[in-house]
Amino acid sequence: MTELCYYEILQIEKSADKSTIKKAYRKMAMQYHPDKNPGNSEAEENFKAVNEAYQVLSDDEKRAIYDRYGKDGLEGHGQGGGFSRGGFDDLGSIFEEMFGGSFGGGSRQRQRKTYNYNLDTETNINLDFNEAIFGVKKEIKFKYKTACNSCKGTGAKGGKLSTCGTCNGQGQVHMRQGFMTFAQTCPHCEGTGQSVSEKCPDCSGLGYHEKEESFTVDVPEGVNNGNRIRVSGKGNIAPDGSRGDLYILINVKEDKHFVRNDDDIYLEVPIFFTQIALGDTIKVPSLKGEIEVKIPAGAKDKQQFIFKGEGVKSVNGYGKGKFIVQIKIIYPESLNSEQKELLEKLQQSFGIESKPHEDMFSGIFDTVKGWFK
Ligand SMILES: [Zn+2]
Ligand SMILES: [Zn+2]
Repeated sequence: MTELCYYEILQIEKSADKSTIKKAYRKMAMQYHPDKNPGNSEAEENFKAVNEAYQVLSDDEKRAIYDRYGKDGLEGHGQGGGFSRGGFDDLGSIFEEMFGGSFGGGSRQRQRKTYNYNLDTETNINLDFNEAIFGVKKEIKFKYKTACNSCKGTGAKGGKLSTCGTCNGQGQVHMRQGFMTFAQTCPHCEGTGQSVSEKCPDCSGLGYHEKEESFTVDVPEGVNNGNRIRVSGKGNIAPDGSRGDLYILINVKEDKHFVRNDDDIYLEVPIFFTQIALGDTIKVPSLKGEIEVKIPAGAKDKQQFIFKGEGVKSVNGYGKGKFIVQIKIIYPESLNSEQKELLEKLQQSFGIESKPHEDMFSGIFDTVKGWFK
């Protein structure tokens, strides 16, 4: 197999400038990144090649040597074949630029892999309905992990890891399925290639100690069930002292009367049938205290009255939601004799209007009878 030169690997011209090289590298690293191609060994090889090419071509001195003498020229120039490990810290910062913080955590761990927990951690808080709507200061208590000093987070006695016997240090095992062979992350060492032969006595092999911390968090106005608040620098602590982020997952209790849908609040209001017949103006509770609702005579069951801007303030800062009053018409369950009399009188006073079905169907009875003669 003829080996591709670094320019071919990155698919650029020999005269390419630095920004072109960087752009080409980002594109290809993104394409072949192991996180995007789990278990794909070809992508992994390509990823390594792309990294190797970038490390040389992005360095003016190395690039000059490479251009003149080729790969051989770089031997003994502090490269010694260890390309793919040497520059990882530098690459790490590029990945953070590329993928943002969420990816940063993952890639950081992939590179070092001397501790086996995530730096980001999560905890829950329960909020009352109103606390979520108006915001609140809450004391939260949470647990985080901090690397065990005796084993430097490895979980192995004295920090001494040995080569994983399951994958012989490769970090991958191969599975056959029919005529296909798949590479899989080693289940024993989870891809690190290293394993613990003797557990660290200080942390029982966990690699970390658990600690508790509490602080007051400012929950912003308008948060809702399922929202997460990120508190940077309050996560788990790595052996090198770097600390991940804490995510606070929000649970909101329901209210007896108000129903929340995003930034809108619904309130069901029972209205007696006579109020519907006569029309009425009523006061109902709202987020601000109370709100006046004008029920026109003849309003329908489930009719909604919408008050814009009287809902919840958007946590993202896009104004406020609606406050929606929905009416529910209530009829009396029973009538006393006086009420019955009054209603009968009322009915009679309407004359034919009080029997709309008779008015509508007058004449039809005779027509229908005629069909069967
Ligand atoms: Zn330990
Ligand atoms: Zn292994």
